[in-house]
Amino acid sequence: MTFRAIRNDKTEAGQNVRFVDMDENELMDGDVTVRVTHSTVNYKDGLSLSGKSAIPRRFPMIPGIDLAGFVEASSHPGFKVGDEVMLNGFGLSETHMGAYAEKARVKGDWLLPIPAGWSRAEVMAVGTAGYTAALCVEALVAAGVTPAQGPAIVTGAVGGVGSVAIALLAKAGWRVLASTGRATEADYLKSLGASEIVDRATLSAPGKPLGKERWAAGVDSVGSTTLANLLAQTCYGGAIAACGLAGGMDLPASVAPFILRGVKLIGVDSVQCPMVQRKAAWARIAGDLDRAKLAAMTTSVPLDKVFEVGAEILAGRVRGRVVVEIG
Ligand code: NDP
Repeated sequence: MTFRAIRNDKTEAGQNVRFVDMDENELMDGDVTVRVTHSTVNYKDGLSLSGKSAIPRRFPMIPGIDLAGFVEASSHPGFKVGDEVMLNGFGLSETHMGAYAEKARVKGDWLLPIPAGWSRAEVMAVGTAGYTAALCVEALVAAGVTPAQGPAIVTGAVGGVGSVAIALLAKAGWRVLASTGRATEADYLKSLGASEIVDRATLSAPGKPLGKERWAAGVDSVGSTTLANLLAQTCYGGAIAACGLAGGMDLPASVAPFILRGVKLIGVDSVQCPMVQRKAAWARIAGDLDRAKLAAMTTSVPLDKVFEVGAEILAGRVRGRVVVEIG
C-alpha cells in the first residue's frame, strides 16, 4: 500500500523536501481517496518546493495545490469509485497534504468533476493559475465593466495567470494589452489574443497618483508599484482584479483613482473561494478557453522534474503552464 510522494519534513536544519515512499495511513483525514494522475506547477508550488517558504503550516506536508485523478475510495455521497475528479487549493500543500504524490485523501466537498469532454491533463494545464484568471474575468464582469469602455490590461502576461487571462479576455471581446518583461514572447502573447505589448518596465517605476486613462479593466498578477500604476491609469468607472504578488506584496498607491474616477480594485482569492464561484469560473473555462491555445501555452513534465520547474517559475522563466504527470 505504499506510494511515491514528495514530502516536506521540518528538521532542525530547516525544511527537507524530497521524494519518499509513504503509506496510506500517513495521509490526512478525508472521505475520498484519489489516485492522482496529474498535477501542475504554480508560483506557489515553486515556493513550497524551495523548502524556504512559509506555505506549509504543518509538517510533514506534501506540496502541490492542484490535482486530477480517479476516485479510489469514497464515503462521500457525491463521488464513487472510478469518478474522474479535480481539486484546486482548499489548503492543499498548506494545511492539508497536497498533490505531488500518487495518492491523496481529501474532503469530497473540495472536489469537482472534470468538465465534460476535457481530460485530466487539460484541467491541470489550466490549474489554479488558469482558474484564478477565470475568477478575475468573472469579477470584472460582475463589476459591470464592458469592452465598450476601453481595453483590458494583463500583467505578468507570459506567466500562467497572465496567459489564460489574455485568452479568456480576448474571447470575451476585449482588446487586450499584455504587459511583460519578455519582449521576445510578443508573438506568443499575440497568438493567445493580445493586441498590443506593454513593456513591464513602464509600469514598475513609481508613477503619478493619476495618469492618462489607458484601460477600462485589468488582471494583475504582479502587485506593488505595477498595481498602483494600473489603478492610476484606469479609465473612469473601470476595475482591476488583483490576484498576485510576483513583483511584491506592497501597494504604494493613492486613493485618487477611487475617489476621482470611481475605479474599483477587486481582490481575488482562489484557495478558499466558495464552490458557486469556482463552478462559474470553470464553466467560463470550459465554454470559452480555446483548447488549441491552452495546448500552445502548456508543456508537460514527469514528477521527477518538478523541483527544476519550481526553481524556473520562481526565476520568472516559465512560459504559460506546466502539467506534471504522476505515476
Ligand atoms: P508565473 O510565475 O507563471 O507568472 C508570473 C509572471 O509575473 C512572470 O511570468 C512574469 O511575467 C511576471 N513577473 C515575475 N516577476 C516579476 C517582477 N519582479 N516584476 C514584474 N513582473 C514580474 O506565476 P503564476 O501566473 O502562477 O502566478 C502569478 C501570481 O499570482 C503569483 O504571485 C501567484 O502567487 C499569484 N496567484 C494568486 C492566486 C490567488 O488565489 N490570489 C492564485 C494563483 C496565483 P512576464 O515575464 O510576462 O513579465
